[in-house]
Amino acid sequence: MGGPDKIEARLLELTREAGKSYGFDTAHDPNEPVGLFFQESDEGLVLFLVFYTRACRWSLCTGCPLPSTGSLHHVGLRALAKQIDAVFARPDVRARQGEIRKVIVSNQGSVLDEATFSSTALMYLVAQINLQLPQVAALSLETRAEYVDEPELEFLARAMAEGETRTVLEIAIGFEAFDEHIRNHRFRKGLSLAEFERLVDKVVRHDFHLKCYFMQKPVEQMSDEEAVRDIERAIDYLADLVERRGAHIGVHLNPTYAARGTPLGEAFLAGRYVPPQLLDVARAVRRARGKRLRVFVGLNDEGLAVAGGSFLRPGDERLVQELERFNRTGDFAILDAICTA
Ligand code: SF4
Repeated sequence: MGGPDKIEARLLELTREAGKSYGFDTAHDPNEPVGLFFQESDEGLVLFLVFYTRACRWSLCTGCPLPSTGSLHHVGLRALAKQIDAVFARPDVRARQGEIRKVIVSNQGSVLDEATFSSTALMYLVAQINLQLPQVAALSLETRAEYVDEPELEFLARAMAEGETRTVLEIAIGFEAFDEHIRNHRFRKGLSLAEFERLVDKVVRHDFHLKCYFMQKPVEQMSDEEAVRDIERAIDYLADLVERRGAHIGVHLNPTYAARGTPLGEAFLAGRYVPPQLLDVARAVRRARGKRLRVFVGLNDEGLAVAGGSFLRPGDERLVQELERFNRTGDFAILDAICTA
């Protein structure tokens, strides 16, 4: 690992290499998180935390704008501890602290990459969760697979066990596309199936859970039908892993939006890309019926889409409500009703 200036230079180089034109959020107060929000899921109330740190050191994924919400410079332990304090001081968090069942921790990159997210800060966060959120049953950490380091996870899991309820540790990774060529050559994810399966083995060995983030239609030159088929293949593959290896796997499916400052955003503006329809998202998710694989549909375009480039279109409000209802209940009859309407 290089010094801070080397990381900064490398980030700029990778951003250029990926054909991205966004800048980084250097004006953000380092003592405040990027944001937080609540989600209702069948696991109960979820608190989703997005911390402000140095941007994702991979940064190459062609459709991803998330590094633009991070810093080009290192954000250290003290600032991160203040961000954590700021979360627990918020009136909306305080008002619901007895209801929160799951906490998802993100820094729009990898919280297990200690070069961007201090390990001490992560421990401080776990301590605050144990002290302030008595009903938490799951802690989810978003990361790239290469940063999953077993001794660190075991330590975190032991710390989580000191809370008032049994808490499961979940590793959440971006898989994005099932097709290997699309995932690694066109989207530039840098995740092989072999590496993913090694991660599954680690997770099973320690009785952790795994969450896989997918994007429906993540690249241009992919038809709506191909995009549905890609998600269906992912669901079949993961459901098979659940059966064969006894893994506990969940899927978080994000319909893709055309993000600002990315080649996909440019493709949209040039008329070469159209984001997926929510109807097709419902069609793809139906593949999970009868499988031991829970699918949650992400319905947040994070405010990072180019104008008109979101998958959320005027008139989609009812569909959004129904998909949110599916997220809360897991009831496939809701998807059937959407697809046959
Ligand atoms: S998808 Fe994840 S790994 Fe890829 S650039 Fe975005 S934040 Fe980094």
